[in-house]
Amino acid sequence: MQKLLPFLIFFIFVNSFAQQEDLSLDYYLPQDVSYNEEIPKPQDIIGYIPGEWHVTHDLLLNYMRELARVSPRISIENRGETYEGRPLILLTITSEENQNNLEEIRQNHLALTQENASSLDTEEMPIVVNQGFSIHGNEASGSNAALLAAYYLAAAEGEEIQELLDNTIILFDPAFNPDGLQRFSSWANIHKSENINPDPQDREYDEVWPGGRTNHYWFDMNRDWLPVQLPESQARLETFHKWSPNILTDHHEMGSNSSFFFQPGIPSRTHPLTPDINQDLTREIGTYHAAAFDELGSFYYTEENYDDFYYGKGSTFPDINGSIGILFEQGSSRGHAQETDNGVLTFPFTIRNQFTAALSTLEAAKNMREKILNYQRDFYKNARNSAENGAYVFGSEKDASSAYELAKILKKHKIDIHQIEEDFKTDGINFKKNSAYVVPKNQRQHRLVKAMFERRTEFEDSLFYDISAWTLPLAFNLDFAEDVKMNKAGQKIENLEKPEIETVEKSNYAYVMQWHDFYSPKALNMILEKGLRAKVGMQPFSLENKEYDYGTILIPVQNQELDKEEMHEFLQEVAQKSNVQIDGIGTGLTQGVNLGSNQFRALEPAKVALIVGEGITPYDAGEIWHLFDQRYDMKITKLDTRNFSRTDLSGYTDIILPNSWGSALDDGDIEKLKEWVRDGGTLIGYRNAARFFEREDFMDLEIKKDSLVAEDISFEEQRDFRGAQGIGGAIFEANIDRSHPVNFGYTNDKLPLFRNTTIFVEADKQSYNNPIQYTEEPLLSGYISAARLDSIAGTVPFKHTGMGRGNVILFTDNTNFRAFWFGTNKLLMNAIFFGEEM
Ligand SMILES: [Zn+2]
Repeated sequence: MQKLLPFLIFFIFVNSFAQQEDLSLDYYLPQDVSYNEEIPKPQDIIGYIPGEWHVTHDLLLNYMRELARVSPRISIENRGETYEGRPLILLTITSEENQNNLEEIRQNHLALTQENASSLDTEEMPIVVNQGFSIHGNEASGSNAALLAAYYLAAAEGEEIQELLDNTIILFDPAFNPDGLQRFSSWANIHKSENINPDPQDREYDEVWPGGRTNHYWFDMNRDWLPVQLPESQARLETFHKWSPNILTDHHEMGSNSSFFFQPGIPSRTHPLTPDINQDLTREIGTYHAAAFDELGSFYYTEENYDDFYYGKGSTFPDINGSIGILFEQGSSRGHAQETDNGVLTFPFTIRNQFTAALSTLEAAKNMREKILNYQRDFYKNARNSAENGAYVFGSEKDASSAYELAKILKKHKIDIHQIEEDFKTDGINFKKNSAYVVPKNQRQHRLVKAMFERRTEFEDSLFYDISAWTLPLAFNLDFAEDVKMNKAGQKIENLEKPEIETVEKSNYAYVMQWHDFYSPKALNMILEKGLRAKVGMQPFSLENKEYDYGTILIPVQNQELDKEEMHEFLQEVAQKSNVQIDGIGTGLTQGVNLGSNQFRALEPAKVALIVGEGITPYDAGEIWHLFDQRYDMKITKLDTRNFSRTDLSGYTDIILPNSWGSALDDGDIEKLKEWVRDGGTLIGYRNAARFFEREDFMDLEIKKDSLVAEDISFEEQRDFRGAQGIGGAIFEANIDRSHPVNFGYTNDKLPLFRNTTIFVEADKQSYNNPIQYTEEPLLSGYISAARLDSIAGTVPFKHTGMGRGNVILFTDNTNFRAFWFGTNKLLMNAIFFGEEM
């Protein structure tokens, strides 16, 4: 009997949450209002009551389109598509009268953020609320609740809803991450049993790699609001800046044993550029959530666990834009129901909480409308008043593409940028017209600009939910000056255009291409893929007063697959597609090494494989896949750890092992990999691969031991103490040896690197083996503990070693971080194309 008891309790639970037979809309919807019968209920379109199944994105879409078709309160637009081609729709929900004056309302609303806004009357002005759901696809209660919220807003009748809709413009985004939602819903639905089984060990609750959290290229899209590199974020951002919403909500899920969280987060971990009033208003909005949850009987908490520091998150980004971002986190059923510390947590229960928070947000918005509108106006007024004169200028004399890519981000954020009036030099840096941009400090987006450009090394708290630094000119490895006079500014840029390149002059002798531009690997890959012979210059040279740096690519005209005419035509195409300058030259008699010298080494087409699957960090792997596929148009083969033993490696020139945990590869796999390296392959490992390379004898490495000892730290403080020793993500400076192939293409002798590990590798005794080495005071931006800062100084984030006829290369840092670290992408490409020359 004693043994039976848990089972009995278990079955009682099962029966009490039961087979959802009696699940109806009544479970979710307020019962004190009537609903317009003309409006289709979710089940009329998707075929079931929300919560019975996990809604797929296509069914969600069908329902939203139908609502927009029948309801005069709803208009719908498509703002683009995901990588998998799913529409990125947005519903605008408000009263019928407002729908007819939407553009006028929008203009009046935006005027609040402009100069001379003080004369505007906010008394009659609607408030704008942007509600977004399930940016992490496997946190699905949000998007499933969106079905109910949209229905309620379309169908509810009576004074209360009318008052809400008269006073509110709701920008309703039912699925922030369509591809992830689709992936996860398939997983949860294919495992659902007729008799719902809440045993957490059931396969339903344990997704296979890479899971549904991320988008197509395995990015965490809730980190991309600031760098805005992904199509989904670009659509969201366009809506944000088109409307300047007052409140933006971001509906997530967390661990199954948790209840429900709403912001504010931990007060000491709010970014200092966010005004205090923002957090006060967030707290006041929180009282509406608390009241609604109290009534429902649901548990919740606030001001714990989460923070408001990194502006790339959906709930923090609004805070630097005069808006209020709010994070919701619901304990996840991660499927249809799970046993938890709080009893059985059902999917419908999680949906109901999200739905409730969506409505309490709107209730708060309606009641606090004027106060919040005035806050927005003050935010922009105060920002202008506090702005210094002068401007930032950034650029790169030799890599116009990287400067252009950063300028693109600024334009997406509606930041004013100017061309430079004429070439100039400041602090020893040349800024040139085609590759430099001026950013005035005194402008509407003053605070956002500051958040993007500032270097910050002092912090109130030593714990961070995410990265502590993202200084964009450092991430792009651009030259920048923080205080130039506005008289350096030329015309304001309305339409940003790609940097200009000169046409390729026809040559009967040779073509050369510098390796500085961000897109030069794309050009080289096209050339090698075409079957053309190309070489890399190991030393600089000059010709006709033009300096050609380390790593210049040489394409001879003679003895090629293409004749002279075809060659010229093809290289014009390459230059145009990659936007990289290619020069036709008439002589090999250069200053420095001549073109016939053995200092030009023959290059092979790269056939690259990437190890993915269980044990590999999906983000890191996805960043690499994205880099090759989206930026450089290079094929990359994804080899699954599951099948590695059966894979034929012989065709690959390079294999990349991203960050991994545990043993992604077994002993047989490791031996196979070694054999492939000895036969001439180049193996490139990232981050934790350092320990793997050391343990499995791929490389001789001296990794610093963790010798941290706690003194005067109590049990309660233990976690914070440990946490403070982590590097969540900060920016460090290294000295680089530009003559080493890993650094080809770089023009300065210093390089900023992004690091989020605490693996410190000792430098080699031979200085020429340390082409990238942290300086003695390497911290450029972000948080690191004093002890860790001591550890990192003078260590090396890069190692190369020969093994048989092949090469093993290690990067301890993530050079491809979140697709916005353009500045260090070249390191990986150098390892790929020039690994054999190291
Ligand atoms: Zn989440």
